[in-house]
Amino acid sequence: MVDKPQEAMASPGPLAVMRSMSNPNKAYQVTLGEDGVVHCSCPAWRFQKLPPSERKCKHIRQFEAEYPRLAAGCAAYRAAVENAAFEGVD
Ligand SMILES: [Zn+2]
Repeated sequence: MVDKPQEAMASPGPLAVMRSMSNPNKAYQVTLGEDGVVHCSCPAWRFQKLPPSERKCKHIRQFEAEYPRLAAGCAAYRAAVENAAFEGVD
């Protein structure tokens, strides 16, 4: 097992609801996936042609700006997932 400070790592699930800047009646769910990738429920994120791990949208940027510690926790979780994959854990 990798020795990491547990409290610094985020866990998969809903992270925050970010309000649309263009339409205050709309809000999008930013979620940390099991794969460590931060997802957004907005169409701009879902219809990007990049792989999910490389997608960004303004809500995720807004999330990272407003919750830098949580965003760092997501990055820590993703690093742990990727380390586990490299070590061949199944
Ligand atoms: Zn979005």
